Amino acid sequence: MSFYECYNAYKDFDFNKFWRELTPQDIAGILTKDNISVWEYLALLSETAESLLEDMAKKAHKLTRQHFGPTILLYTPLYLSNYCVNRCSYCGYNAANKIRRKTLTIQEVEQEAQAISSQGLRHILILTGESKYHAPLDYIMDCIHVLRKYFSSISIEIYPLDTEEYRQVIAAGVDGLTIYQEVYDEGVYDDIHLSGPKKNYRFRLEAPERACEAKMRSVNIGALLGLNDWRKEAFFTGLHAKYLQDRYLDTEISVSVPRLRPHAGSFQPNAKVTDKNVVQYMLALRLFMPRLGITVSTRERAEFRDNILRLGVTKMSAGSCTKVGGHTLEEAGEEQFAVSDTRSVEEIRVMLLQNGYDPVFKDWHPLTEDVIKGEENAGGNCAENF
Ligand code: SF4
Repeated sequence: MSFYECYNAYKDFDFNKFWRELTPQDIAGILTKDNISVWEYLALLSETAESLLEDMAKKAHKLTRQHFGPTILLYTPLYLSNYCVNRCSYCGYNAANKIRRKTLTIQEVEQEAQAISSQGLRHILILTGESKYHAPLDYIMDCIHVLRKYFSSISIEIYPLDTEEYRQVIAAGVDGLTIYQEVYDEGVYDDIHLSGPKKNYRFRLEAPERACEAKMRSVNIGALLGLNDWRKEAFFTGLHAKYLQDRYLDTEISVSVPRLRPHAGSFQPNAKVTDKNVVQYMLALRLFMPRLGITVSTRERAEFRDNILRLGVTKMSAGSCTKVGGHTLEEAGEEQFAVSDTRSVEEIRVMLLQNGYDPVFKDWHPLTEDVIKGEENAGGNCAENF
């Protein structure tokens, strides 16, 4: 069984009827519980639950402090290539868009890596459009080889791979995967993915579990809010995250809550998603899954990001640029979408400290042969003092 069967079990459920029948007392009752079921998570996503948002926020803040302390992990994206063979109607990299395309050379990757790491960041997320011709796996491996000199954690947001390919990139030094389903509703998915391999709904849906099977250290999933009714998409994202967390105990599971941003192309969102909606989604997720990582990117406005810090966020991007080569090259490729929070890494660091949070630049280092030997020499016999 894969998550596809799980999706099918719920996809025809009458969500609106379920939500209509809820009372504020039902929501208040859920908020007294330590463990929340899938149905209770769905209830927390209802319009009825909006009247208890403050109570949800207090509980979400407490749970986040309990499991993560006052820390926020910082990372930044590095765009390697904006060539893409897909036509996703909501994306600037859509193959039909006439934009400046570019793939970084290995020297340019090193140049970008130096510029990013000089800001103190040690976690990086590398991204490509979906073109195995312009950014084949061998090229990505070469980039990883260079990036390992500068970063202790390398995540990928590229085309979905098979399990063996995930094993290969992990062996090369990748420890994290970000892959968004974009929209869980299979019909809407088919409508907005006009052509290209991304039309294969199931191959994308099952990519996170293939990565978990390959022993990826962390996996980050999400729906792109604005493509469909956010409450249903939030439900399926939470269901997917729980499915992965319950089955793959070795992997840290996170969810991103991205909203559509302006981009090259004329696509307009199918559904409105307000700040209050995003907050409710985050709070419901935290109450449903207290140990879940929650990522908020620079797609969101600076003021909004500052205001939601206490509500469950564990990871933030900083100093983002969605142009290929945007950190150092004069002739950078066109951006994927417009970044909203344009503050520098230093400004984000100061903002976090002012709000009582520790900005974390590095919380992971892979155990290479050198590190293992160094620890053996430094530590001697760990048990000898007992
Ligand atoms: S969303 Fe990804 S796959 Fe779709 S057009 Fe953009 S870069 Fe290509």
